[in-house]
Amino acid sequence: MADKKDYYEVLGVDRDADQKTIKKAYRKLAMKYHPDVNDGDKDAEEKFKEVSEAYGVLSDESKRQRYDQFGHAGMDGYSQEDIFNNINFEDIFGGFGGSSGGFGSIFDLFGFGGGSSGQRVERGSDLVQTLNITLEEVATGTSKEISVTHRKLCPTCNGSKAEPNSAVNTCSQCNGSGQVRQVQNTPLGQFATVSECPTCHGEGKVIENKCHDCLGSGLKKITEKITINIPAGVETGTKLRVTGEGDDSVNGGVSGDLYVTINVLKHDLFTRNGQDLYYELPISYVQACLGDQVEVPTIDGKNAKLTIPAGTQTETSFKLRNEGLKHVKWSGVGNLYVKVHVVVPKQLSEKQKDILKDFAHESGDEISEVRQGFFDKVKETLNK
Ligand SMILES: [Zn+2]
Ligand SMILES: [Zn+2]
Repeated sequence: MADKKDYYEVLGVDRDADQKTIKKAYRKLAMKYHPDVNDGDKDAEEKFKEVSEAYGVLSDESKRQRYDQFGHAGMDGYSQEDIFNNINFEDIFGGFGGSSGGFGSIFDLFGFGGGSSGQRVERGSDLVQTLNITLEEVATGTSKEISVTHRKLCPTCNGSKAEPNSAVNTCSQCNGSGQVRQVQNTPLGQFATVSECPTCHGEGKVIENKCHDCLGSGLKKITEKITINIPAGVETGTKLRVTGEGDDSVNGGVSGDLYVTINVLKHDLFTRNGQDLYYELPISYVQACLGDQVEVPTIDGKNAKLTIPAGTQTETSFKLRNEGLKHVKWSGVGNLYVKVHVVVPKQLSEKQKDILKDFAHESGDEISEVRQGFFDKVKETLNK
């Protein structure tokens, strides 16, 4: 297991290869290493298993996603059988056969072609939950108690599905293997299939009295509070994995995981782009002309000083270094960008108007008297 090769490398395909390409690559390799054409060559057999495992994972979108995210470690919860079960060998070898005339050996090769311990071990289901957090919490990182509803082993039967002290018998149809094997004769030769035993549904045993507490499912839905740590810098869509907090496995497999998807709530003052924050600051015409020292809010609540130089134009942005957000993975902090808007007053006193007229005169701008609105004039005329 230690030095397992990358599945994409094994099949010789790109990481973004589509299913058609993956299947084609697998078919080619599987034909080459198929045990029936290699006369029991052990190296070929190993190769065949290796390419089949890679294909079993990459041909299943959900397994492929886990593999892309977590590598081989992400496959720990799956048995080899789980992986090989994805492969439709009949589809792959549809045009193959003839001379060798048999596919049965494929199943024996993987060691689950019927036997005494073929019971399927399934991993518990993963769960997904969304969590709302504020931008302030993104800035500092936080820990939160969340309520999770998951299916855990029934405390009464401890997951056995049977009423305590009741009889559990080995299934007589499959002798406890949970599987039945059928050999079909097809025009291409013999084809062996292994399917779930219809009597015990793959359990290998038949329960006389089902557990009353979980109604024989072995699992019970419970709601628990768990605390999760949220690192600073997370974004909407960031997924945090909480190992083992998904559903339990009912037959000895690994518990599923809980994935908490972060949703960052809209902030009243700041907008965000990656690690940077943006704030819009209204200033007066006089502040823009003469310059000023102002305070602007920051995400840590401490406010920062900003110098607006004389002659600042509207829509100018100022950068306050390191007043943004941390990055969730690496060090370094974003900036706060303050964009100023010059606000033109809507109402002026007579004195203010006079001062502005003087100002205009001083600047060499002649301003003609403010005209009455057209409709005001019409109204006046009508009232006469
Ligand atoms: Zn129970
Ligand atoms: Zn059975």
